[in-house]
Amino acid sequence: MPVQDTLSRPLRDLRISVTDRCNFRCVYCMPKTVFGRDYSFLDRKELLTFEEIATLARAFVANGVEKIRLTGGEPLLRRDIERLVAMLAEIPGLDLTLTTNGTLLPQKAEALRAAGLTRVTVSLDSNDDAVFKAMNDVDFPVERVLEGIEAAAAAGLTPVKVNMVVKRGVNDASIVPMARLFHGSGHILRLIEYMDVGATNGWRLDEVVPAAEIVQRISAELPLEPAAQNYPGEVARRWRYRDGGGEIGVIASVTQAFCHDCTRARISAEGKLFTCLFAQRGTDLRALVRRGAADDELAAAVAGVWRGRADRYSEIRSSETAAVPKIEMSYIGG
Ligand code: SAM
Ligand code: SF4
Ligand code: SF4
Repeated sequence: MPVQDTLSRPLRDLRISVTDRCNFRCVYCMPKTVFGRDYSFLDRKELLTFEEIATLARAFVANGVEKIRLTGGEPLLRRDIERLVAMLAEIPGLDLTLTTNGTLLPQKAEALRAAGLTRVTVSLDSNDDAVFKAMNDVDFPVERVLEGIEAAAAAGLTPVKVNMVVKRGVNDASIVPMARLFHGSGHILRLIEYMDVGATNGWRLDEVVPAAEIVQRISAELPLEPAAQNYPGEVARRWRYRDGGGEIGVIASVTQAFCHDCTRARISAEGKLFTCLFAQRGTDLRALVRRGAADDELAAAVAGVWRGRADRYSEIRSSETAAVPKIEMSYIGG
């Protein structure tokens, strides 16, 4: 794709990381060997305050953002996250969502909904406890995550999407059981190709299960047919069960890059703006907010960065680019 085409992509969605900490150590995101006891996470004073986040969110909405997703690290570990949700929910017309590992959802789903959250995505990589543990390196029962999913649904945070990152040889045997588990449940399972984000997960191309193979493996048991996009630029390709049991999504960021449709910006927990998941550096927005920049100055700064954007990493990915240092998923928030 010519670089010129990538320059005209509108800014539509924003992911905001509210913490770089997590209670899991997923092998594809925060491997324990790197994120161990000695790892130094961001200091509390380095994190954007809720007021600073709300100010920045308005600057992005002024530039066309319609959807904000809170993420992390684990966003539900950030104290009083409901207060931030309530502040962002005051911005008119915003679709406000959150991605979580689900561990704290049983306690928090009701309050999040009451504060104005629209939906949640819950990450769950297997319905088998041993496989789940092999993926996240902590001892947390699958059953408790399922309780979190049900709590979210009961609170009205629907449809609940369930993210499963597929790593060959680790959890690919869970693809069909996970499809069976969520078939007919009203929740939408989304199967994600394992990506080479960050520099710590030791990514190898042969560990990626291509989306086409994922669909074929599920369809052999529970026949699928393609479904239309919900909106242009939708990241997940939708597939519908032929028997009316709902739908799944597959996210083929490795085998079918979608940079030409990418309308997403990201802010790290310390206020750096990244225009690509695979960027090597970001723009410090916190400095601007902390020196009291006016709303229109912030909006202009965001516009300036976005206008200069030519990101298309997934379209040029190779074994060489995989080795280039990049920011970590837990820092930028997926
Ligand atoms: N802790 C929360 C969670 O796990 O849902 C939110 C942050 S997490 C970084 C956001 C999403 O990124 C999760 O669905 C996770 O599975 C996904 N993710 C993390 N590392 C990934 C990788 N290497 N490839 C593909 N997806 C990844
Ligand atoms: Fe934590 Fe989410 Fe990363 Fe897993 S994917 S280590 S739950 S931030
Ligand atoms: Fe967007 Fe970068 Fe991902 Fe391409 S590689 S889809 S530009 S975040």
